[in-house]
Amino acid sequence: MQTFHDSLFSDSSLPALQPVETARRPKKTHLAPGEVNRIFSEEYRALRPRAPMPEMEVRFRALVSLNTTIRLREGKIHVSLSDLLEGAQESVLHAIAHILLAKLYRKPIDKTHNLRYKRFQYSEAVARQTEHIRSTRGAKRWLGPEGRYYNLDEVFDALNERFFHNLLGRPNLTWSEHYAKRQLGHYDAAHNTIVVSKVFDRPSSPRYAIEYLLYHEMLHLKHPVKVHGTRRCVHGAAFRADEKLFPQLAEATAFLKRL
Ligand SMILES: [Zn+2]
Repeated sequence: MQTFHDSLFSDSSLPALQPVETARRPKKTHLAPGEVNRIFSEEYRALRPRAPMPEMEVRFRALVSLNTTIRLREGKIHVSLSDLLEGAQESVLHAIAHILLAKLYRKPIDKTHNLRYKRFQYSEAVARQTEHIRSTRGAKRWLGPEGRYYNLDEVFDALNERFFHNLLGRPNLTWSEHYAKRQLGHYDAAHNTIVVSKVFDRPSSPRYAIEYLLYHEMLHLKHPVKVHGTRRCVHGAAFRADEKLFPQLAEATAFLKRL
């Protein structure tokens, strides 16, 4: 299990973590309704001591992942938190409130808060991985994230750190069973799984190609499919704008065309 631990975060600032066997889901706390709004107001005040307090709406959504969003619309802050955070300790909620507000107002992210949230993410990831192993034991086998040359979990975590402030919940990641060339990657929402074609798991496949493919699928997590009437908008304007942030977009798309 050492590789899981090592690959989860690309920085080395984390202290020694408890081994997988003894990792448990953090103790549930019972926050009174409105408490989470108070936490966000306190973190807002700490970050912007003199600015007027905006209206805030903080909601928990039932999600299997830790996806978390913050938006400022007409002076009101809208926060959507995964319900996995609902039972988190107050210090973790302070940490995520700080991170989201700092991100929104382009302020530096406090190291203590960042570390606290990462620790929480780590313990959640371990708990979910343990549950996953338990639930799939004896069931249909899948290839999983560890390929011959690339580990999809490791690539995902690196991209999450680089482009998403670690705010995307990691879904299940697996290599495809076959060397599919038509469907190079896709997100299976029903199983919360990103499947990447095994054609990329070879030394001739540059890391930026896998990164681009995974980054694209991660943008699908960030921008869920909107339905306008009967039209499904899969790659909207915001999606495409984000996609252009990938530095080797041109090289990657050229590589995919040559496959
Ligand atoms: Zn797509």
